[in-house]
Amino acid sequence: MSDKYLLATRSLGKLYELRPMFAAAGLEVIDLDGAGIPESTAEANLEEFDSFEENALAKAKYFRAKSGLVTIADDSGLEVQALGGAPGVHTKRWSGRADLEGRALDVANNDFLLRKLGKSADRRARYVCVAAIIDGSGPRTFRSETEGEILDAPRGEGGFGYDPLFLSSELGITFAEAERAVKERGSHRGRAFVQLIGWLAARARGQRT
Ligand code: IMP
Repeated sequence: MSDKYLLATRSLGKLYELRPMFAAAGLEVIDLDGAGIPESTAEANLEEFDSFEENALAKAKYFRAKSGLVTIADDSGLEVQALGGAPGVHTKRWSGRADLEGRALDVANNDFLLRKLGKSADRRARYVCVAAIIDGSGPRTFRSETEGEILDAPRGEGGFGYDPLFLSSELGITFAEAERAVKERGSHRGRAFVQLIGWLAARARGQRT
């Protein structure tokens, strides 16, 4: 019988990107709804640390305690050079709009980013993702980053978050213009999870032999 892994995120954008990656590796994942874990206000306070690693592990630990399953979570964000690396670990709620979620929050965050950058000639930015897993053998993290620049107007309809403003240096298009599989190849999350899934798959192979 194969292990079932909990993919512990409420983000539909992340689930859309990650489900096919686990499926392609033959690994079975369930999300928080599938595990019957209703959203609670405590979740808003999990990301209280100054590093992506600590925040990703805090989420994985919290949901492992709730589910008892091998639990996978990530923490990610945008670091803008001209803003001294902000918003970093504060990326999700940067605009301060606690009343918004989903697309509406993304739009507010994108507007805020454009206002903050103004006419700055230095538009360099990077996305960071740390994928974390906690199982019986302890915690592990996998980090990846990807470089780009912030446009002065959105381009593309796909993706989520700041994707319409992030022109990927590697892809030459914004993440919102990239098909899911294309974004996976060039993105922080895609590459962090390639590492995590590779580690999991190797471990599963080891257990079978
Ligand atoms: P968290 O990882 O749940 O803390 O969320 C990080 C925030 O960073 C998201 O809510 C998005 O605003 C932004 N972000 C992280 N990864 C991406 C991405 O791949 N595309 C666009 N925005 C992202």
